[in-house]
Amino acid sequence: MKSGAPRRLVLLGPPGSGKGTQAARLSLELGIPAISTGDILRAQQEADTLHGGELRRYLDRGELVPDSLVIDIIRHRLQDPDTKNGFILDGFPRNGGQGEALDSMLEELRRRIEAAIYLAIAAPALVERLRHRIAVEQRSDDRPEVVAHRIDVYLAQTTPLIEYYRRDGRLLEIAAEQAPDVVYGSILKALAG
Ligand code: ADP
Repeated sequence: MKSGAPRRLVLLGPPGSGKGTQAARLSLELGIPAISTGDILRAQQEADTLHGGELRRYLDRGELVPDSLVIDIIRHRLQDPDTKNGFILDGFPRNGGQGEALDSMLEELRRRIEAAIYLAIAAPALVERLRHRIAVEQRSDDRPEVVAHRIDVYLAQTTPLIEYYRRDGRLLEIAAEQAPDVVYGSILKALAG
């Protein structure tokens, strides 16, 4: 990977598109942290007896938690020293407001998201993958009716971000239906420009 390759990255794509898998590999190869708002929220829900129940209601239904909460989480996380040389955001931003909040908080730090990696995948392949995941991971929001809702939430709230990043040339669209290795290769190629 060239030294000038983008290192402040966002991963976009529907539930089941492989964001977590690709984020982990990129994190290892680039030596920068992968930050998953879903993982952070699930950990908070487990740890926080006072507010955990409130979080659970959003997570179990596949609803987005309030913007103010996730924006605060990300604002704090991006102040950690391990993000100095770059980071990969998995699951944030997830709507237009979060996208704008991210750009303006980074502007204050004189940084910028350099690329949004969009994992493009058609609905039938998604449903198949998530059916497999429910058997393996047993996440409470991988029940079929919640999965269907998470996909609807993605289509309604998250897809406008594709245009948001495309408009100013930051979008890298990756065909994400093939095996993880192949998808990873395409990402590296796109990042190398
Ligand atoms: P997936 O991408 O497969 O839906 P995630 O682990 O990214 O899974 O997200 C799981 C859940 O966590 C979401 O359904 C939502 O309730 C919550 N969540 C994660 N990221 C955000 C975010 N940026 N804004 C609001 N809610 C979020």
